[in-house]
Amino acid sequence: MAPHILVLGGTTEARRLAADLAGRPGVSVTTSLAGRVARPGALDGDVRVGGFGGAEGLAEWVRAHHVDFVVDATHPFAEGITANAARAGALTGVPVVVLRRPGWRDGPGDRWHWAGSLTEAAGLLPGLGRRVLLTTGRLGLAAFAHLDELEFVVRSVEPPEPPMPPHTEVLLARGPFTEADEVTLLRERRIDLLVTKDSGGEATSAKLTAARRLGLPVVVVRRPPLPRAVAAVPDLAGVLERLGLSR
Ligand code: NAP
Repeated sequence: MAPHILVLGGTTEARRLAADLAGRPGVSVTTSLAGRVARPGALDGDVRVGGFGGAEGLAEWVRAHHVDFVVDATHPFAEGITANAARAGALTGVPVVVLRRPGWRDGPGDRWHWAGSLTEAAGLLPGLGRRVLLTTGRLGLAAFAHLDELEFVVRSVEPPEPPMPPHTEVLLARGPFTEADEVTLLRERRIDLLVTKDSGGEATSAKLTAARRLGLPVVVVRRPPLPRAVAAVPDLAGVLERLGLSR
């Protein structure tokens, strides 16, 4: 029987994994998307969209669709679905592997300040800058809404959800971004502080090198921890090895 692999998606890695698996004879792949993005783009293999209804709902889906492996390739900050995947694995006995790209590391010349949460990040801002490029995503901006002395440029793929800080310009854009683009943006908007999650990956890392080049401070929000029971690998090759599909 062809193995059925469920990829929990919403990331570039999930898209690449689906493309790799769909190209293999005798492998069946379904990518699951939360449905947050209006036009997610074409994906290889089958696609399903929307929540499962918690860990039990996911376990039910896994059983009903005879899934042999679950690959959680969701974003490092999507902690709800990652917890659900771990629990669904325990409920069904189906192996779950987490594809978690490595986090970013600061280097010489960087002025990074780590924060444990968006709220903690917001607390750091008044001491560090006045014009802030906020790239933490469209949700969670309420943590910054009280900062009425600061000016924000909020960049996100989909329109951000209120409440937001009173002095906010919204920029809708999807990566990848180049360092030259990011330097231009930081200069044109007279940004003196960058705020980001530790998403990792190359698609959105140019803002960090741009900030380094301009000597700007950066507030970096730490990743949530992984559930204890799950096995994590850093890249596609690691997933394929776990699936017994290394070329
Ligand atoms: P989350 O807080 O971990 O998940 C909330 C709920 O959304 C989950 O309990 C689940 O609903 C549903 N869900 C999430 N991912 C799903 C998936 N791939 N397939 C089906 N249902 C899913 O997630 P989030 O942070 O809102 O992220 C949502 C999606 O956007 C994820 O797929 C993630 O990869 C992507 N994303 C997130 C970020 C970020 O910064 N958080 C950035 C880029 C992309 P049920 O409990 O009903 O199953």
